[in-house]
Amino acid sequence: MATTEDNLFKNVISHAKEYGFIFPSSEIYDGLSAVYDYGQNGAELKNNLKEYWWKFMTLLHDNIVGIDAAIFMHPTTWKASGHVDAFNDPMIDNKDSKKRYRADQLIEGVIEKLEEKIEKEVEKAAKRFDNFDRTMFVSTNARVVEYQKKIDEINERLKTAMANNNMAAMKQLVDDLEIVDPISGTKNWTDVRQFNLMFSTEMGSVADDANKIYLRPETAQGIFVNFLNVQKTGRMKIPFGIAQIGKAFRNEIVARQFIFRMREFEQMEMQFFVKPGEEMKWYEYWKEKRLKWHQALGLGHDNYRYHDHLNLAHYANAACDIQFNFPMGFRELEGIHSRTDFDLKSHEKYSGKKLQYFDSEDNQNYIPYVVETSVGLDRMFLSVLASSYKEEKLEDGSERVVLKIPAPLAPNKVAILPLMKKDGLPEKATEIMNLLKFDFRCFYEEKDAIGKRYRRQDAIGTPYCITVDHQTLQDNTVTIRNRDTMKQERVAIQDVKTIIAESVSMAELLKKI
Ligand code: ATP
Repeated sequence: MATTEDNLFKNVISHAKEYGFIFPSSEIYDGLSAVYDYGQNGAELKNNLKEYWWKFMTLLHDNIVGIDAAIFMHPTTWKASGHVDAFNDPMIDNKDSKKRYRADQLIEGVIEKLEEKIEKEVEKAAKRFDNFDRTMFVSTNARVVEYQKKIDEINERLKTAMANNNMAAMKQLVDDLEIVDPISGTKNWTDVRQFNLMFSTEMGSVADDANKIYLRPETAQGIFVNFLNVQKTGRMKIPFGIAQIGKAFRNEIVARQFIFRMREFEQMEMQFFVKPGEEMKWYEYWKEKRLKWHQALGLGHDNYRYHDHLNLAHYANAACDIQFNFPMGFRELEGIHSRTDFDLKSHEKYSGKKLQYFDSEDNQNYIPYVVETSVGLDRMFLSVLASSYKEEKLEDGSERVVLKIPAPLAPNKVAILPLMKKDGLPEKATEIMNLLKFDFRCFYEEKDAIGKRYRRQDAIGTPYCITVDHQTLQDNTVTIRNRDTMKQERVAIQDVKTIIAESVSMAELLKKI
């Protein structure tokens, strides 16, 4: 069972399938690329993640309300948002391996490698000197300065090529950096072409161009087009936010990392409408708040970091990612964007309807600025699953696989296990289950030896197991086993609820933020 970093991810993926968390979509037909189904345990974990986000947004902020907009939207929405013209990724193929890549990601890979080299130099030097000054070191060490110069140069060329939609310049950059396809090992690349990521379909019975509509590539636009509806009917005063959880669809060029990059996925987005000029204050506010929300899960503060965007999207005046240390390294988990008044202004232009707010304090109308927080639900799922997956060697020499999922997110909170299938133990266990099931998601199981049953609960992350034995019938006590410590305690049935309640409570988790 010994796991290297490299095959940890593979183990997580097969564990997710084996224990009913995630299945390949339509598997009996060999699956559908980058589309996944959530199984009985996955659906519960996902719902708990949604609850954690939704409650944080709409219960802990009295100026944020939630909506649920349709996936289909009027096609002009996507013209106004810029998606029809600019939601493209630069695509490149290797002629030998026939594999397709995103050219910008290949180039960013080179930057990442240079950054790793810098970090290695820094680590080496930090070990050598006592009063190590990082800032001084990176600005004076010849090798590091050279790496940094190269990074800046590549970044500048990438940024200019992307901004000017110059695919020939992108190709030149791929050639100049001598990027090699990891599969074929060759530099035999096609030209770089732009590829629009939106899926389209037809609405109605006549399939002509006028009826072409899109599956939304982000949930945000459903919020923008409802901005005035919500503001007016909810009598909302700026600053205020609108939150939404829902499906989004992107025809991703490269989608090879399990649920990290899917073609159908779910987003949890919140648009915060503010007075023009105040957006940077709120941008900083949400950056900090969102990181705290992630950290409260207890997956390790070191697993998160900010990544500021150098190449800003056409609508943004500031943007950063919260990255998580996934099995394949630090990657974007959430985006925080200051989107200016771009979207509302553009919808005003295309719809001909005023989308302005009357500020009674200032006695003026204006189009609000927007700060957006956007987190992928499936990426959240992967961050929790991957970091809670542990292969442990126990004192008695045996091994176990346990999902140390934060208890409030666990699919089941408690398993109720009669020691034997006779002597009235199942009946007593059912009685206990009937007592607890209104407060906690319970799982009942009477098959197999108790040790095996404990292992199965460990594997799906159940924080507590309650065992009902013959003594239970005599004195109304049970043993309660803790998933993480594996310690067992004998407690009175009447105390079980209190013992479990605090650690699995969503409210207690929210209080930690
Ligand atoms: P990336 O750079 O990884 O493609 P992005 O910057 O395009 O992501 P956004 O448009 O900012 O992503 O979307 C917000 C969030 O939605 C991301 O932080 C991510 O968590 C999630 N997300 C985006 N694309 C996907 C996808 N294809 N599969 C799963 N989650 C996604």
